[in-house]
Amino acid sequence: MALEAETKRIVSLFELSDDWLNKAVREYHSQADEGLRSEGTSLSQIPTYVTALPNGKEKGVYLAVDLGGTNFRVCSVRLNGDSTFKLTYNKVAVPKELMTAEKAEHLFGFLAKQIEIFMHEHHKDEFESIRSQTNKDEEIFHLGFTFSYPVKQLAINKGTLIRWTKGFDIPDAIGKDVCVLLQTELDKLHLPVRVAALVNDTVGTLLARSYTAGEGGHTLLGAIFGTGTNGAYIEKLSNIKKPIEGEYDDSTGEMIINTEWGSFDNQLNILPSTTWDSEIDKETVNPGYHVFEKRVSGMFLGEIVRRAVLDMTKNDQLSLFKDANSSSNDWHSTTDIGPAVWSAEAVGPGQRRHELEGTLDIYSSSLEDAQAFKAIAGAVGRRAARLAAVPIAAIVLQSGRLSDANSSIIDIGVDGSLAEYYPSFREMIYEALAAVDGIGPEGAKRIRLGIAKDGSGVGAALIALVAARMEKNRSVANAAKRKLDQVPGGFLDSFTNPQQLALGVTVLGALTAVGLWWARRRNFV
Ligand code: ADP
Ligand code: MG
Repeated sequence: MALEAETKRIVSLFELSDDWLNKAVREYHSQADEGLRSEGTSLSQIPTYVTALPNGKEKGVYLAVDLGGTNFRVCSVRLNGDSTFKLTYNKVAVPKELMTAEKAEHLFGFLAKQIEIFMHEHHKDEFESIRSQTNKDEEIFHLGFTFSYPVKQLAINKGTLIRWTKGFDIPDAIGKDVCVLLQTELDKLHLPVRVAALVNDTVGTLLARSYTAGEGGHTLLGAIFGTGTNGAYIEKLSNIKKPIEGEYDDSTGEMIINTEWGSFDNQLNILPSTTWDSEIDKETVNPGYHVFEKRVSGMFLGEIVRRAVLDMTKNDQLSLFKDANSSSNDWHSTTDIGPAVWSAEAVGPGQRRHELEGTLDIYSSSLEDAQAFKAIAGAVGRRAARLAAVPIAAIVLQSGRLSDANSSIIDIGVDGSLAEYYPSFREMIYEALAAVDGIGPEGAKRIRLGIAKDGSGVGAALIALVAARMEKNRSVANAAKRKLDQVPGGFLDSFTNPQQLALGVTVLGALTAVGLWWARRRNFV
C-alpha cells in the first residue's frame, strides 16, 4: 500500500495541467518573439538563410552525414524528382571517449573514416573512377553535413560551433568551422568528397518533409525528438526584427528559423522542476542551459526515471525491489538507459520483469515493483510529450494557419527515435494540443505530425544539391554580372535553365549569385 501511495505521489509530481499548458504556450510565444528581436536571448531563433522549400522535383545523387547525439549516420541519397528518393545508409554509435576527446580532430577523423568505409561498401565503382579522373572538381561527391549542435552559420558550407550539447564536450572545437574540421580529415584520407553544405537536423527534417509532401505540401515545422530536441519553422521575414547579416533571397518573404528550443525557458520561469531534474542538470556539461531539452529528450528521460525509482528503493518504508535477491540488484547509470526503460514500460508485466532483469540488472522484481516502475516511466514520458506540445502549439498559433481557409492541414515533419518509437508519444502531443486555447480539438485534428523518415539525410542532400548548383553556376553568374550593364534582358533569360533554379533555396554566402538572383527574379515575376 505504501508503495502504491508513494508511486502516486511521484507520478503527480510529473503532471502538467491544461492551465499550465496554456501558460507555457504564452511564455514560449514571448521568449520566441524576444529571440526574433535580439541576440543573446534564451531562444536563439537562428536565421538559416534558407528562404524557400523544395517541391519534390529535385534530382541527383548526394552524400549526407548526420552527427546526432547518439549515432553517426552516413548515407547516399538519390532524389528521383517525383517526391520519392532512395537512401542507402550506415549507422554507427559515436564512441563515448570521442564525445569528450581532447582534440577536435580525433572526433572528425573518426567521422571521415566512417565516410571512407561507406564509400568502399556502397559506391566502390564510382569512387574508383573518380579517383582516376584528372579533372577531379567535375566528378566530386557533394556532401551535406547535418550537424545538430548550435552553430553560427556564416555561409552555406561554413559555420562555427557555438557550444556542445547532448553530452559532447570538446572545447578545442568551439569557435571553429565544423565544415573545415571535417574537410581536413577527408582530405587526409584523399577522399573525392567535398563538404558542400552544413545543415541543422531540424532544417533538414523540414526540407525533407516538404520534398516528400510535394507541391502544395507547405510544411510548417520540422521537429526532432531524439537524443535532444529542437525545431525549425518557416517564418515571415517581416517578423524577424533582428538584423540578418549578409545576402539572402527575399523574394519568398520567408526564411527558415532554427529555434534551438532545447533552451526554451533556461531561466525556469515556468518549466516544472523536480529534485531529479535539478540533480541531472547539475551533472551535465552545460548546467543551466538546454533545460527544456533535459525534460523532453531521449538522453535524459531514462535517467530521470532511474533517479526517481532509485530514491524509492532507498526508502525503507517501501518494498520496491527488495526481495530475496535484492543484494545483487545494481541499477546503474549508463550514458543513456532510455531504450531499456522504455521497452520495460511498453510491454506487459511478465515481459517487463524479464526486461528489468535482462537490461537493467534488477532481479526478482514483484508484480507491484513492475507496476510502480511502469507508472513512473509513464509519467516521465507523458510529461515529456506535453512539454513537447508547447513549442508546437505556439508555432502553429503564431503562423496564423489555423484561421487560413487555404491550409486545411498543417503539416509538421518529426524525426528522432523518441517520436518514432515511444508508445503514444505523438498521441499524447495531439491530446495536449487539443487542450490549448485557440487550437482545441478541431484545430488539433488539422495538425499532422508526420514522421519524416530519414529526414536529416534527405534534407542534407537537398541542401548539398542547392550548394552544388550554386557552385556550378558561379562562373556563369559572374560572367552575367560583368555583362549586366551592357546586355539587354533576353540574355539573362537564356544563360540559365529556370528548372535549375526552381528550388529557390538561397543561403548566406551566395554573394556570387547576384546574376542568378536577377535571372530568378525574371523567371518568377
Ligand atoms: P540521434 O539523436 O543521434 O539522431 P535518435 O533519433 O535515434 O538519434 O535518438 C536516440 C535517442 O532516442 C536515445 O536517447 C534513446 O534513448 C532514445 N530512444 C531510442 N529508442 C527509443 C524507444 N523505443 N523509446 C523511447 N526512446 C528511445
Ligand atoms: Mg537525429
